[in-house]
Amino acid sequence: MKSILVTGGAGFIGSNFIKYMLGRYPDYKIVNVDALTYAGNLDNLKEVEQNPNYAFVKADIADNKKVEEIFGQYDIDIVVNFAAETHVDRSILDSSIFVRTNVLGTQVLLEVARKHWSIRPDDRHCREYREGVKFIQISTDEVYGTLGNTGKFTEDMPLLPNNPYSASKAGADLMVRAYHKTYGLPVNITRCSNNYGPNQFPEKLIPLMIINCIKEKDLPVYGDGMQIRDWLYVYDHCAAIDAVLHKGVSGEIYNIGGNNEKTNIELVRLIVKYLGKSGSLIKHVKDRPGHDRRYAMDNTKITSQLGWQPAYTFERGIQETIAWYMNNQEWIDNIISGGYRRE
Ligand code: NAD
Repeated sequence: MKSILVTGGAGFIGSNFIKYMLGRYPDYKIVNVDALTYAGNLDNLKEVEQNPNYAFVKADIADNKKVEEIFGQYDIDIVVNFAAETHVDRSILDSSIFVRTNVLGTQVLLEVARKHWSIRPDDRHCREYREGVKFIQISTDEVYGTLGNTGKFTEDMPLLPNNPYSASKAGADLMVRAYHKTYGLPVNITRCSNNYGPNQFPEKLIPLMIINCIKEKDLPVYGDGMQIRDWLYVYDHCAAIDAVLHKGVSGEIYNIGGNNEKTNIELVRLIVKYLGKSGSLIKHVKDRPGHDRRYAMDNTKITSQLGWQPAYTFERGIQETIAWYMNNQEWIDNIISGGYRRE
């Protein structure tokens, strides 16, 4: 039985990934390590809490001793590192925790993985590891910076992050690359575009707009709302990580995008339309400093080499997402009341 350490599994994408993997692979053990920051919510995992192949450990990925203990206790084979501080606006207010979790936390995981998997852990020149191990770093399109009106990000483009969040994610990517180049650690880096779907914390654009719209509250849109994002349904993202986990070539980077470019204002108008509300709820607010104008992913590598394709059209994904938020009022209420932060 393979033992997979999923970090940040109480967050949006991590919790969807855990449910996806437990549903698909009854012979994998999933160990979810999460510090339960404001973004971590164990309500996201209620369906799998009792699954004998699932374990939860509350821990900080930057805590070297604790991470070593977890690797020892569960004899981890694969790491999928989702754990991160993820909100750009928060990184503009204070970037220190972003550097600690996103860069230092990733380095701690890499070093413990190197030692645990190496056939000669104390020999820093040893490049041989036991069979079947891999470190997967979940990164973002934001590390590439911003695009003009045309073109798409490819994996060989330079890293030009424009905000402290994306700079910390780029730092983590470079550390993962260095562990591969220096120590031969088997790794993959995946860079995905903006995700949406069930269980996303309502500080992010789509859940914020859906929830405010349901409650007929203002819908704040940054600047002119003409920023373009390439939207990826979270289930498609989970399937892409599954493909990389099983078929990804060690050392390779894979871009993952949904082929769904939309301006923010177009997206908000769609949500208003689907919920049958008035466009007068939309309020333009002062733009975010350093706001990237356009992201778009070139998917050619993962589609041609690993056979993954996004299955969801944006129309289907957004309607399922809206329906999920409408049917999960208790989940929303628990976040608003703070009740989700039970231990
Ligand atoms: P999220 O904010 O919903 O969840 C992050 C999780 O990490 C939370 O459960 C939090 O408690 C946990 N965490 C934070 N600091 C930790 C620490 N020090 N130790 C252990 N756990 C810690 O994030 P998400 O949207 O699910 O994103 C997951 C990953 O995907 C991140 O690495 C992010 O950079 C990347 N990503 C996300 C998107 C997106 O659209 N959501 C797009 C591209 C890349």
